[in-house]
Amino acid sequence: MDTKENTQSVHWADITADKIIRERKQFLNDKKTKYVCASGITPSGTVHIGNFREIISVELVVRALRQKGADVRFIYSWDDYDVFRKVPKNMPKQEELEKYLRFPITMVPDPWGKESSYARAHEVELEGLLPQVGVYPEYLYQASNYQASRYAEGMRKALENKAVIKAILDEFRTTPLPEDWMPISMFCGKCHKDTTTVLSWDGEWGVTYRCDSCGCEETVDLRTTSIAKLPWRIDWPMRWGVEGVDFEPAGKDHHSEGGSFSTAKGIARKVYNHEPPVTFQYDFLSIKGRGGKISSSSGEVISLRDVLEIYQPEIVRYMFASTRPNTEFAISFDLDVLKIYEDYDKCERIYFGVEKVNDKKAEKEKRIYELSQVGDVPAVMPYQIPLRHLCNLLQIHNGNIDEVMSLLDIKDESQVPRLRNRAECAWRWITTFAPEDFRFALKTPGEELAAIDDTAKTVLQQVSAVIENLDKYDEKSLAEELYAVAEKAGMDSKDMFTLFYNVLIGKEKGPRLAGFIKTCGKEKVLPILKAYF
Ligand SMILES: [Zn+2]
Repeated sequence: MDTKENTQSVHWADITADKIIRERKQFLNDKKTKYVCASGITPSGTVHIGNFREIISVELVVRALRQKGADVRFIYSWDDYDVFRKVPKNMPKQEELEKYLRFPITMVPDPWGKESSYARAHEVELEGLLPQVGVYPEYLYQASNYQASRYAEGMRKALENKAVIKAILDEFRTTPLPEDWMPISMFCGKCHKDTTTVLSWDGEWGVTYRCDSCGCEETVDLRTTSIAKLPWRIDWPMRWGVEGVDFEPAGKDHHSEGGSFSTAKGIARKVYNHEPPVTFQYDFLSIKGRGGKISSSSGEVISLRDVLEIYQPEIVRYMFASTRPNTEFAISFDLDVLKIYEDYDKCERIYFGVEKVNDKKAEKEKRIYELSQVGDVPAVMPYQIPLRHLCNLLQIHNGNIDEVMSLLDIKDESQVPRLRNRAECAWRWITTFAPEDFRFALKTPGEELAAIDDTAKTVLQQVSAVIENLDKYDEKSLAEELYAVAEKAGMDSKDMFTLFYNVLIGKEKGPRLAGFIKTCGKEKVLPILKAYF
């Protein structure tokens, strides 16, 4: 493998990969070629797009590391041995779910009745979507690992080092943990709730607890029990050690002063004999243009599936690849959707050298384009159709995607799926989120006519004559012709636009008129105009 750092790195994923290689060689072993990159969350509700930011950030770094010749294991931990603390508002069967509060989420039933548990239902949803955006981690399931006593040693170590751990945690607490605090927690073996108090540890593998809900008291052996686990702040560094994690980013909350990352670093070094992984902080995401905030506690939760309804997979990747992880940004569902698509198309043109920018910018844009691809980079530049134009075409053809696809001059069949996906996203956007003044439907001949005066009728008649020979005009010359007709008839050009939008789509405004007429074609426009004279 390439042992030299690539000094040319311009993208944050490559810069992070360089840092991982440099620091882990320095701290661990300068012959190191294998790296473990980790990500993970608790499937306590719908996995939202903010959670996806962590996964995609790791995946981009994994790609960068692999391109530098590293052998990378990309793990994704489902922290599914966590407690079911509250019923998210967007879940069905609220009352039924409430009965399982304080249970491990793997013992809460799937409210949709399909999967083995509540946790599994959320896991399956994300695991099914990630391949669509080119993300293929190795999944680890914490409930299974704990239940199989895979972490018995780690739990015993925590108990042996109780004083060390308590000192690290207390450093950031205003009130120190009580003297009888134990670095381990239990789900009750009888009623399954986490409403337990750990009473004692026998100095080896035996731990005694009492359940405050059902009153049961028992002693379990850490090597065989399935009900013991470590609290999050200890569980995290313990797993870094078990899996040998070299890189794991975390959200702002974990990276704050006294947050779980800072305490995990100390515990990893002092208790688990593991040099903490290289990390970075990723920022929150906001959602624009559909209302609601992304948080598991509010009703509406925007998931990766929701974003893929509006954005092509490579554009989803593009949004994350083109933004530094520590920058907050918004996923837009409003008019900015058009701009994001335009930015991506421009990035693509720069990659293929069709649009020129300075060398530094080109280098960066090219790398962003590569990292945005779900699979391999296309061999030739894909056929581009701006989203705005595609939206107009779709509206002119009442959302008939087949009809619109047949109008496009696609030379390479392999590009059809991508374009069809773009058309599907565009149509969903128009019909769901596009602002009202962006939407239109072409009038059909026979519909009730707009009330217009004689001057207007003359203008329609003369413009119709021009449109009879529409092929002879391009957008610019057609626009000039429209102005000329209006001037001759003594009509203000502003009034002329209003007239045409009114007659064609029943609105005051619409897409740029000459281009719009060209896009509609004379077969669609002439019958509408001719109904007036
Ligand atoms: Zn109990």
